[in-house]
Amino acid sequence: MARPNSATTLGHRPELAPSGMAQIYLERLGVHLEGQSVAGVETWMRVPEWSLALDVGRCPELLSRCKHLALTHAHMDHAGGLAQYLAMRQLYALEAPTVYAPAQCCDELRVIVDAWGRLHRRAFDWTLVGMQPGDEAPLGGGRWLRALPADHVVPALGYAVLERPRRRKAEFASATPRTLKTLAEEGVTISEVTERVLLAISGDTLPTVLDRVPELLTAEVVAMETTFLDARRTVADARIGGHTHLDDIIQRADSIRPNVFVPYHISQIYTPAAARVALSERLPPELLTRCRPLLPG
Ligand SMILES: [Zn+2]
Repeated sequence: MARPNSATTLGHRPELAPSGMAQIYLERLGVHLEGQSVAGVETWMRVPEWSLALDVGRCPELLSRCKHLALTHAHMDHAGGLAQYLAMRQLYALEAPTVYAPAQCCDELRVIVDAWGRLHRRAFDWTLVGMQPGDEAPLGGGRWLRALPADHVVPALGYAVLERPRRRKAEFASATPRTLKTLAEEGVTISEVTERVLLAISGDTLPTVLDRVPELLTAEVVAMETTFLDARRTVADARIGGHTHLDDIIQRADSIRPNVFVPYHISQIYTPAAARVALSERLPPELLTRCRPLLPG
């Protein structure tokens, strides 16, 4: 069930949520995943509690409240709202945001943003960080953003948000407090830094990433590009645009372990209702119970 989120407010100004926005409450993480995504039209998401936006195919007002923005790639339906995002943060006198993008896109993104700044007669204050697969950046609150590889028709990335809690080593799991104390006195390291992938997003990509990017399979929550859902478009059709088909997901359903699976970037050939029907008729029952598509309603 969606719950009202702890919306950031700017003084007296409440957030303006566009109609049709999906809101998914992620119980295990205690955060919301919100957004809208229609292939070729617009994809944007955010986790308000982490002040993190993922893609900005259009920039609704509430997305501008996020101080981190991770762009998966520079197709218009994923990055077209960048200047609008920066302009709204400037309007609200919010802290300069940090934008992460595939390193190969950064020169052109700077040119576009600089041009908008000249049109506005005021340069935008922002930091652009070029990312390669494996690069990490701190998001604050003990969380990190990691760039993941993606296989698309233009330079593209997925992202993972992770934390690194320190936990007692497995071999000492059943040790008594007294033993632990003794071990610590002897200088034995009884704990280790572990990694927990909270959220992973695939970006626009071929399904090949599901065979080589472990974060997509092991995150608590995975948002997976799933452009086509049934025989109305074939797997070959999906490949033309560098995309994933639901058939690809079904084939790999057993290896998709996240407790929440969020298909997004669903083609506009499906109404939201038709998309839900296709998912419920075609996904294996076990994966269907974990499926929360990024669709309105
Ligand atoms: Zn794309």
